[in-house]
Amino acid sequence: MVTLAAFAQLSPAASSTPWLLSPQRSDALAASALANRGILVAIRRNFRQNDFMEKIGLRGFRRRVLAFFVLITAFAFAFIGLAAAGPGIEKIPAAGGDIQLHPINHASFILEWNGKTIFVDPVGGAEKFKGTPTLILVTDIHGDHLNAGTLKAVARENTIIIAPEAVASQLPAELKSQVTVMANGERKEVQGISIEALPMYNLTPDRLKYHSKGRGNGYVLTLGGKRVYISGDTEDIPEMRALKNIDLAFVCMNLPYTMTVEQAASAVKEFKPKIVYPYHFRGSDTEKFKQLVGNASGVEVRLLKWY
Ligand SMILES: [Zn+2]
Repeated sequence: MVTLAAFAQLSPAASSTPWLLSPQRSDALAASALANRGILVAIRRNFRQNDFMEKIGLRGFRRRVLAFFVLITAFAFAFIGLAAAGPGIEKIPAAGGDIQLHPINHASFILEWNGKTIFVDPVGGAEKFKGTPTLILVTDIHGDHLNAGTLKAVARENTIIIAPEAVASQLPAELKSQVTVMANGERKEVQGISIEALPMYNLTPDRLKYHSKGRGNGYVLTLGGKRVYISGDTEDIPEMRALKNIDLAFVCMNLPYTMTVEQAASAVKEFKPKIVYPYHFRGSDTEKFKQLVGNASGVEVRLLKWY
């Protein structure tokens, strides 16, 4: 799609370039249609036939200069195409470009912003995840958040993995060198993104066995001026209720591991994120959550397909 947009700029409809008139528009559009599947093939064909260049009246040095830039652009977009996860199903305007969200499943999702691709709790196999992560956040040790096989398959040499110590100590040796350990309360700047690690834990006596305070991390990311809260597995802890200026919040709600929709709605109405995405909610009534948060709270509940 990006490549299509780039080629569209060559078309008369999208620019005032006088040397490319309507008969050539079909050439440019044909090349762009092929671009996502076989951009180099399409360009090579155009160059071999020389039709495109003859028609637009470029010869000699100017032709070679244009050819050079077209090829460089093709390579650049081919590379971006490999690195990016594609258009997100949610796009939140932010400085430096939209924050794009791809829900994957349960606790796993991808955020993209300004050339950075962030995988959150990637589990379930690499085939579920498009794109190449620059950053991976892991919240906790349980199988719905940490899967060494998926991590090994999706991480690249320069991917930075942010995780609590309990997670880091379970990672295979080949990933340990790229882990940055963060404890609850720590803050770091990574790839132009501010990351704060928050506690996540149970409060209810019969659920304490699931998540003890200090082991896992929730996170607050600041990217492009937007603050994004990722709850991890938690109940409505005071640290969540005390959050300020959250633009996007991913809040868990399921029993017996985390909290009820009533607890989640009560907390959300207190810390008032601008938008909340229920996630990690298998078996819970998210419509009820939405109803409990209500319209008067000033919080927008966005229900997405996570399962
Ligand atoms: Zn979980």
